[in-house]
Amino acid sequence: MSHLFYLSTAARPVLDRAEGIYMWDTSGRRFIDGSSGAMVSNIGHSNPAVLAAMRAQMDKSTFGYRLHFETEPGEQLAAKVAALSPEGMEKVFFVSGGSEAVESAMKLARQYAVVTGQAGRWKVISRFPSYHGSTLGALSVTGYDPLTDPFRPMMVEMPKIPAPRAYLDGLDMDNAATGAHYAAMLEDRILAEGPETVLAFIHEPVGGASTGALVPPTGYMQAVRAICDKYGVLLIHDEVMSGGGRVGTFLGGDLWGVAPDIIAISKGFGAGYAPLGAMIAQDRIVQAVQDAGGFLHGHTYAGNPLACTAGLAVLTEIERQGMMGNARKVGAVLKQRLKNLMQRYGFIGDVRGEGLLLAFEFVASRETMAPLPREMKAFDDLVERAYAEGLIIYSRRTRGGYEGDHFLVCPPMITTEAQVDEIMEKLTRALDGFA
Ligand code: PLP
Repeated sequence: MSHLFYLSTAARPVLDRAEGIYMWDTSGRRFIDGSSGAMVSNIGHSNPAVLAAMRAQMDKSTFGYRLHFETEPGEQLAAKVAALSPEGMEKVFFVSGGSEAVESAMKLARQYAVVTGQAGRWKVISRFPSYHGSTLGALSVTGYDPLTDPFRPMMVEMPKIPAPRAYLDGLDMDNAATGAHYAAMLEDRILAEGPETVLAFIHEPVGGASTGALVPPTGYMQAVRAICDKYGVLLIHDEVMSGGGRVGTFLGGDLWGVAPDIIAISKGFGAGYAPLGAMIAQDRIVQAVQDAGGFLHGHTYAGNPLACTAGLAVLTEIERQGMMGNARKVGAVLKQRLKNLMQRYGFIGDVRGEGLLLAFEFVASRETMAPLPREMKAFDDLVERAYAEGLIIYSRRTRGGYEGDHFLVCPPMITTEAQVDEIMEKLTRALDGFA
C-alpha cells in the first residue's frame, strides 16, 4: 500500500530509472515518455552534463538563503534568462514551480499598480478554459471548473473571457479577422469591468493542458498586446509550459515577436532536474517596486544554488545540442504524422500545436465538432491503452467541464525521427484498440 495521495486514483507502476526519452519501472518494463511527464522533462532524462554540474554544485553548497547570500549559479542563470528574454526584461525572480511563478507575477503586477498610484486596479482577466496553477491566487485565474468549484468561496472571482478556440467555432485560424474577433472579447471585458479596475490579462501564448496546445489565430497576440497598452493593463504571459524551448523558441511569445510585461516560466526550465521556475518582468515594473521598498513576496527555496545550477546546465545543453531546432524539425514531422491519423480515425477532430507542444482532440463528429459523450470515457481509455503499449501521453478533459478529450503528445526535445516512428506505432495500436 502506498502512503501517497494525489488526484489520480489509477494504480501506477513504480519508477526505477529513466534515460533519454525512456523510463523503466521496477519490474523492468520500458515506457516512452511521450509527454515529458507533464511537459517537464524537456531535455530528456539523466542528461550526463546536467547531472555532473549538479553533483559538482552539491559538493560546494546546496542552499543559501536569498536574503543572506547571492549565488554564482543564480546570477549566471538570471543573466542567461535575461539574454533570452525580450529587450528591457533584465530582472529575474526565481521560484520553485509554475504556480509560484504565476502567484509572483500577479502580486508583482498588483504591487506595481499600488506604488504607481493605481491602487484601484486589482482584477486579473484570464481565459476559459485555462490552467495557471493550483494555489489559490493562480486558481482564481484558472478557467477549469472541476478544479476550481470546491474552492470558490475561498477565492476572489476573476473575470474570464473565452480562449480563442477557432477550430471549435468554425473560424479560420489564418484570417486576421479571427484574431481580432477573440481579442475584441478582451477589450469588451475590460470596458465592462471598468478599465480603472483591471490590473492585468494573463494567458498562455501556446496553450498547455487546459486547451491542448491551443495556438492563437493570426493577429491575436499582437491585438491583445495593443489592447492592454490602450487601457494600461499589464500583459502576463504564462509560459510555464510553453517556455523553455519546447515550442522551438525560448518563449512562446517569441513566435509572434510579442513581449509581455511579465513572464512566468517553470516546467521545462528545470526540466525535471530540480524544482525551478522564474518570473521575468519589464525593468520599469521591477524598478518602481524596488524604489518603493521592494517586492513583498518570496518563497524560501527560491533561487537555491542547486536548482539554479540545474537550470543553467539545462539551458546550456539546449543550446549545445541545438534542441530548439530539433523541436521545430521533429515537431513538424510528429505533427504531420498526427494529422495523418485523421484519415484513419474519424473521431480525431483537430491536431494542433507548435514545436513539440502538440495535441490532438477527440470529437463525436467533425461536422459539429461536438465532444464525445461523457459515458464513452475516451479520456481514460486511450491513456490506459497507450500505457499498456508502453507509451505515456497526457490528457485533459476541459470542454464544458468534463466533456471533450484532448491528448498531448510532447516527447522530450531530443526525440529523433526514428523515435517518432516508435511513438506513432504505439499510439496507432492504442487508437486501434479504442476504435
Ligand atoms: N501554468 C501553466 C500554463 C501550467 O501548465 C501549469 C502546470 O501544469 C502551471 C501554471 C502550474 O505549475 P506547477 O504545477 O508547477 O505549480
